[in-house]
Amino acid sequence: MSWNALFVPLVVIVLLVVLSPVFKSTWPFSTFYHRVFQPFVADDHKYRWKFHLVPLFYTSIYLYLVFTYHTRVEPLIKTELFLLERILIVPIIILPPVVLGILVMVTKAEDSNNHKQGSTEKYPYDYLLYYPGVKCSTCRTIKVARSKHCSICNRCVLGADHHCIWVNNCIGKGNYFQFYFFLFSNIFSMSYAFLRLYFISLSSTAVLPRAVLTLTILCGCFTIICAIFTYLQLAIVKEGMTTNEQDKWYTIQEYMREGKLVRSLDDESQSWFLKFTEKSDTGEPLQDQQVTFYSTNAYDHQRYSLKHYITIKDASEITNLYDKGTFLANLIDLM
Ligand SMILES: [Zn+2]
Ligand SMILES: [Zn+2]
Repeated sequence: MSWNALFVPLVVIVLLVVLSPVFKSTWPFSTFYHRVFQPFVADDHKYRWKFHLVPLFYTSIYLYLVFTYHTRVEPLIKTELFLLERILIVPIIILPPVVLGILVMVTKAEDSNNHKQGSTEKYPYDYLLYYPGVKCSTCRTIKVARSKHCSICNRCVLGADHHCIWVNNCIGKGNYFQFYFFLFSNIFSMSYAFLRLYFISLSSTAVLPRAVLTLTILCGCFTIICAIFTYLQLAIVKEGMTTNEQDKWYTIQEYMREGKLVRSLDDESQSWFLKFTEKSDTGEPLQDQQVTFYSTNAYDHQRYSLKHYITIKDASEITNLYDKGTFLANLIDLM
């Protein structure tokens, strides 16, 4: 049996599955959508291997770039490369992204309830984003400050930033260091390859084949994508946040703009509350006693009545307890 006899039906099936959400009302896409695509997306337990697809895709592209370089580009530009460059290209340019990628994949971020590591005492509760005594609805353990439950890793992660699909691992306290090194090694390798190939193409008198142009464009594109992502990540660190907390801060600021965010002066911890004014049928606010307060703790559904409080009008009035003041201090604090 020829390879084509196997390969063609396989490609057709993959295309039917991949395009099924777009044409879900048309047969045969509808069958593939309901029987294959939907269960595949919804069931994280049965199809756990799906989370390895993106790292596999990334590895394939990277290996393709290395393969193209070695087989089709290097023989053409060999004479243009410096001797030291030829010796160091594998250990300094090609290997680090792969080695660091594997390192981020296998290094687990700290478990939020791992008492042995003493992590639970690491961050104080700020009574704004994080409150003591809250239990994770999935693993039923106490939610420590700056932790988040990851449904893919199925555990609560300390200093949780996000679940990175490229390495299929949660980025949090314990693997930030490896993660940023991985990002920087990718930027360094890709930009080096891009600039070197670009200047060799410029100085070359002979017309270089298409493989050189393809590799230059691909390396340039990956440099830009990776640099933008790294910049956005580091901008969050500078603010003393994690990606997970950034979403929470957006919500808090939205409440502030609506005039709902208040700070209690009644209790010692000066907790934060949301003020809701009951409206009449005509939409007009009722008397003062109709004002109700809810905790910013999303797990607390109790109504509160505050005697002394201040309404927060500006973001500068909100202190981020986890912002250590400088980018470096925030980065070290998360590592
Ligand atoms: Zn949990
Ligand atoms: Zn995760």
